[in-house]
Amino acid sequence: MKIVVLKFGGTSVGSIKKIKKVADIIAGYKKKKYKVIVISSAMSGVTNELIKKSFEISDNFSESEHDVLVSSGEQVACSLIAGRLIHKGYKSRSWLSWQIPIITVGIHKNSRINEINRKKITKYLKEGGIPIIAGFQGVNNENRITTLGRGGSDASAIMVAKFFKAQRCIIYTDVEGVYTTDPNKLKKAKKIKVISYEEMLEMASLGAKVMQPVSIQDARLNRIDIEVKSSFIKKTGTLITKRSSIINNKIVTGISSTQNDSKVSLIGVKDKPGVAASIFKPLSKNLINVDMVVQNISANGRETDLTFTIKTEDLNKTKKAIQENKNINYRKLLFEKGVSKISVIGVGMITTPGVTFRMFQTLANKKINIQVISTSEIKISVLIDKKNTKKALSALHKEFKLDNKK
Ligand code: ADP
Ligand code: ASP
Ligand code: MG
Repeated sequence: MKIVVLKFGGTSVGSIKKIKKVADIIAGYKKKKYKVIVISSAMSGVTNELIKKSFEISDNFSESEHDVLVSSGEQVACSLIAGRLIHKGYKSRSWLSWQIPIITVGIHKNSRINEINRKKITKYLKEGGIPIIAGFQGVNNENRITTLGRGGSDASAIMVAKFFKAQRCIIYTDVEGVYTTDPNKLKKAKKIKVISYEEMLEMASLGAKVMQPVSIQDARLNRIDIEVKSSFIKKTGTLITKRSSIINNKIVTGISSTQNDSKVSLIGVKDKPGVAASIFKPLSKNLINVDMVVQNISANGRETDLTFTIKTEDLNKTKKAIQENKNINYRKLLFEKGVSKISVIGVGMITTPGVTFRMFQTLANKKINIQVISTSEIKISVLIDKKNTKKALSALHKEFKLDNKK
């Protein structure tokens, strides 16, 4: 069977007009004799609204009920798409995860797809039907509804492509593809024709919302090529694929930035073995993700300062966990909300020395202070004052020749 998986994001199904357009795109593939499997997200804004409602009920809303609640948005979008296709004369229906089923493992709000039963969908495809599958959701082995983390319908699409051995997996979104940096933040951003899984994974993890990081991991493990393109403009998008298929002479492929980071500093903690561990243990117990960490060299051999970053949404939990931790002493505890992490990413860095220097010099020329640094083989991240984000993005984009047409 020649199967294509089409995933539509929130903005692509954000209004009735757009849903009608989506139905036309789907019909186009059907006419080209593809067996089409569609994955849809909720209409844009709906998931956020549902989460807001849960907070109005309780600031400690049940995690299992959270998943039942927020997964409902996808049901609406799927039935509207299926309804439109039926209106156009096609055989179509919506499928919720428990009806297939799509089995997940892991915790509520952050589960992962482990298995998809192919039987019913395969039969439906053979009968000429167009299944419209709700993204973002699954069921666990206790038959409870689960969700896959924000942006999780990307992961639904990749895993459906894997289990149904799809020939193509296309992610339709509101931009024309993956850009050198967020095109909504920097006008000069350029569309990238081809990008490796590794670079895309770094870009997504470091703030490029266009793809959910977990979905890229799944695609990389299963060697699934992903096409990212616009639902609104008919143009070639971006191909995400394995590194060996790419010829690239750029040192830096893209630049990502984050919006919602906070910085925590503990001033004057004892400089002895085990202190960092005792600070981070309660954070990990509370499922708080610590990102960048820096510990100053102790000036007097007795005391040091420790700084780390977290997501701003975890700030209150973090404050509480540190203040209630009787195992650590510090002189001062500082929190700062207005920080942003800027990262330059590219496999070309492995073989090109001097990228770190160029990044730091560029920021220095713009009088932007670097607060924390972290690096890996293919990326360099720095923490800066949030108000300098745009200036930094623009200067780095130019420095690494990303302004130039490819
Ligand atoms: P969808 O609703 O289709 O899942 P998302 O809002 O999750 O769409 O992702 C698309 C958005 O990702 C774009 O509107 C864009 O602002 C943002 N984005 C961030 N970084 C990038 C990038 N490097 N390339 C393209 N888009 C990006
Ligand atoms: N609707 C979900 C969200 O907003 C899933 C997705 O968009 O992929 O996170
Ligand atoms: Mg998304």
